[in-house]
This record gives sequence, structure tokens and C-alpha cells, in this order.
Amino acid sequence: MAAVVKLGPGKLCYLEKLIPQHHEWQQWEVCYCGICKTDRALAWSDQSEGRVLGHEVVCRGTDGRYRVLNNEIPCGECEYCQEDWVSHCLHKQELGITHHGGFATHICAPDSSLHTLSLSDPRLGVLVEPLACVMHGLSRLTHAAALQHTSAPLVLIVGSGVAAKMFGHLLLHRWTQAHLALCDIHDDAMAWAQSYPIVCQQTPQDRHYHMVIECSGSRDGMLTALAAVRDAGVVMIYGVSQAGETLPVSAREMFERELTLMASMSGCTQSIFLQALSYVEQHQAFFATLLGKKTDLRQLPYELLYNPPLPGTRSWVVMSPGRTGSGD
Ligand SMILES: [Zn+2]
Ligand SMILES: [Zn+2]
Repeated sequence: MAAVVKLGPGKLCYLEKLIPQHHEWQQWEVCYCGICKTDRALAWSDQSEGRVLGHEVVCRGTDGRYRVLNNEIPCGECEYCQEDWVSHCLHKQELGITHHGGFATHICAPDSSLHTLSLSDPRLGVLVEPLACVMHGLSRLTHAAALQHTSAPLVLIVGSGVAAKMFGHLLLHRWTQAHLALCDIHDDAMAWAQSYPIVCQQTPQDRHYHMVIECSGSRDGMLTALAAVRDAGVVMIYGVSQAGETLPVSAREMFERELTLMASMSGCTQSIFLQALSYVEQHQAFFATLLGKKTDLRQLPYELLYNPPLPGTRSWVVMSPGRTGSGD
């Protein structure tokens, strides 16, 4: 199989022939793979050396049907798995991180990790995994809402990347009593929200929001979130921050303002993954707006290391052009 392999920090290499691993798992033809911020961070880190990255995978079996991959394989037996905290599994295997992933023409994966897609445009399947992570975050936030004394909270989303857009769309459809606001340092980054009942602003009102979802991963985004949350409010850290970045808030301020800080990492239960799959199927027109730049496997090393995605979209890789055949 052809693949892009990570050799070292900032070093990725296209290989025409790579011997697949894990013969105990079936081999599948990869059709598309999304390029996420995690892949960009991994490419520059000293993790996952010798590995094929890529975890937002759409593949096809010998029956010709498209399937989407849930890349996390929990052990099912540890104390976390017993309580359904599968992303904290002590023996977790992650395709695209601890095992070869989808930046390749083929992937080895257990049959149980793949779910049949019924999308008229199978490329949208690359958005299922990121949506599942956002849905996991939303379920955490919904639980934290119990700490507020209102059923109609003011919710602010900081940032307008793919995750922020997904939060906005889900909140509008699933938490209809919430009042939504969005903030980004660039006005045009918020243009997508004009057609929705979402207030857009560069500088949100101070100490106003019951809940703030920080999606940018930047220090400035975190400062904005902490300034905008009202006393006794909730801030959720969703954007991935730089390694070593500390919180710009003192323990004393946390105490005096009675803030709740929570985080939500990637990963989700099987049931949330299946909910994400059916949500994408129900809202295909919206998800089509999130597909950004297309690249191929040979161009991927450069694209991944040096080319950021178009604002608010997911870049994606198409494998084996000419064989995937769905109008791309
Ligand atoms: Zn991802
Ligand atoms: Zn486990």
C-alpha cells in the first residue's frame, strides 16, 4: 500500500510500498481522510514516529459499501471502560496515533470499528469523527448546565473553526432554549452564522455568559472566555492548547468567582459515534459547507506541515484517484 509515514518532528514521507501491520484485522481500502489539528500537532511532535497518521477515515469494503471508522479501540475491561469512559481506557488503541491510520491507500481495522454510511456524498463521512468528539463535549456541557439556575442559558462559543461551527449547529438543534453567541477576532470568520439566530461579536460582553465553550486553543481565546463568563458560570476547554500552556486565572479568582472549569477531549462512546453518523446523514447540506481543500497522498506531507485549512473548513485527502469514483 502507499502511505505517508511520520519519520520525526516535522518529517513526513510518502512511501509507494509500506507493509501493512495487524493482520489480525481486516484490510480496507481507504477512500478519504480528514486532516485535523491533532494530525498537524502530531506531525510536529516527537510522538507517533514510524506511524501513518490520519483518524477521520472513510473506507470501502470488498462489498463496495462506504464505511466510517471509529478510530478508538478501547479494551472494554479496565476500570474506565467498565464505567463507559472509553476515551480514558488504560489500554486504548488509536488508529492514526498508536497504530497506522488513514493517510494511506489501505488500513487494517477491526470490522466492529467500521460503520456503514448512507450518505449521497460519502466524502462527508470524514466529518463524523470530529462531530462525535463535539457531541461528547456537548453531553458534558449539558450535565454542567445543572449548575446554573436557568434553563435558558446564555452560551458563548469562542472561535469559528469546524468544531465551533458544529457546536453552534448542535446547540441550535438540540438545546433550543439556549441563547447563542459567537466570538472571533475576524468578522469574516463568523459569516457562516449570519443565517442562524446567533449573535456575532469580536469582543463579547464581560461577565455575561452562563457557559462559554473555548474552541480556539489559544491563550487569547482562554482570556476571552474567562472575561466573558459570569460569576458561578462554566468554561469548557475544547480547543487543543500548546503543550505547557498554563491557565491565565488564579486559584483565588476561581474561588471568588465560583467558576467551573471543565475540559472535553477527543473520543466518544460507540453510541455517541452512531448518533454523530445519523446527525451528519440528517444535515448533509450543512456538513457539505465544512469540506475544504482537497489534496492527494503525495501532496499530503507539505499540506499537513505547512498549509493551514481554509478558515472554518476541514481539509481532506483523497486516495487512489480514479478508483474512488464518486465525482471528486
Ligand atoms: Zn481529529
Ligand atoms: Zn479499557
